[in-house]
Amino acid sequence: MIVGIPTETADGEERVALTPPVAEDLVEDGHEVCVAAGAGEGATFSDADYEAVGCEILDDREAVFERAEVLFQVRGLGATDTETDPYREGQVVVGLLGPYEVTDDTLDELADRGVSAFSLELMPRISRAQSMDALSSQASLGGYQATLLAAEALPKMFPMEMTAAGTIQPAEVFVIGAGVAGLKAIATAERLGASTRGHDVRLEVKREVESLGADFVELELPTEESGDEEGYAVEMGEEFYAEQRRQMERVVPESDVLITTAAIPGRPAPEIVTTEMIEDMDPGSVVVDLAAETGGNCEPTEAGETVEVDGVRVHGPTDLPSRVSHTASQQYANNCKHFLDNLLDDEGDLDVDFEDEIVDSTLLVHDGTVRNPHRDDDGG
Ligand code: NAD
Repeated sequence: MIVGIPTETADGEERVALTPPVAEDLVEDGHEVCVAAGAGEGATFSDADYEAVGCEILDDREAVFERAEVLFQVRGLGATDTETDPYREGQVVVGLLGPYEVTDDTLDELADRGVSAFSLELMPRISRAQSMDALSSQASLGGYQATLLAAEALPKMFPMEMTAAGTIQPAEVFVIGAGVAGLKAIATAERLGASTRGHDVRLEVKREVESLGADFVELELPTEESGDEEGYAVEMGEEFYAEQRRQMERVVPESDVLITTAAIPGRPAPEIVTTEMIEDMDPGSVVVDLAAETGGNCEPTEAGETVEVDGVRVHGPTDLPSRVSHTASQQYANNCKHFLDNLLDDEGDLDVDFEDEIVDSTLLVHDGTVRNPHRDDDGG
């Protein structure tokens, strides 16, 4: 197959969907790889790096869309603000395509053009899919970066130290949402020596939080129905969130650092932390809201901005994986390569097998038909 890598167009996106080492694997597997000039620069991969492993560098991204049979993109469709890319008949697109945000018009247009679009956000949480799970690989980096951002912004050290000049108390870090990003944020805070606590509505993660050395904050909430069979949280009623906020009033103000990661796939983020709770934190405290892109877990959060509430800075970053673009691209490229391998038959030809749960879950458009399960008319 001819695999193409266009430049990314989303604002501030530094990642690239294929790195030279993974490109080399594709070439060794018998694929051709074409890369738009400069596509890897944000992730510190030069055109020469790609050429050295047998890729062809094309002048611009349009040339990649003309030539490629399979496109790897970091962000596309509903995940970008750009016009629909110039996909052509028969092309296969693999990427974080924003299946919850993409418009029906865009999907219909792709169906008309005969494109097959696979959205990595819809990857099932099964063991076989772990190597293709871009949401997890990128969330983990986001969690790591969130703790580093907080550690740098906090005017206190994270670790406890006993020095001749006095004892330094450890910073108090509280992480809400202990999924992939939250657990990595907790692990990073622990490694930096902070006194760390974590909370989640899914009580099954209590043991994971504690195994990282952190304390689990268990609230008195009716959490029996809080998770689905895939391990995702489900949306609870407003009454539940009101009670959760009420109980958070006690925990949040005790923290120097609050990192929030609570999410429900395809739904706005639950609001868990009010402005009043943040006002009650000590001046200089830091909040990092990883759910900013879907509305935020904290009342004052603004996506992509840092706002100040009574001396507490509330960060709403939306680009944390992109800030470690080199590592994020390495992981993402491996996810895409594994996904492509799974799509091809023994002869190396495309085999869209609906019996395969991975294919069935991630396929948004194929053979002139829109199958986004999140579209109302599609039963979603
Ligand atoms: P996510 O990004 O959808 O949500 C982040 C966390 O927020 C979740 O742990 C969720 O329970 C929590 N949350 C939601 N509402 C909350 C609230 N009101 N208060 C507190 N916390 C709240 O989740 P994720 O990181 O994608 O992970 C979801 C699950 O999937 C985890 O159990 C994870 O271990 C599992 N997972 C499995 C696989 C696999 O088996 N292949 C891969 C990745 C993740």
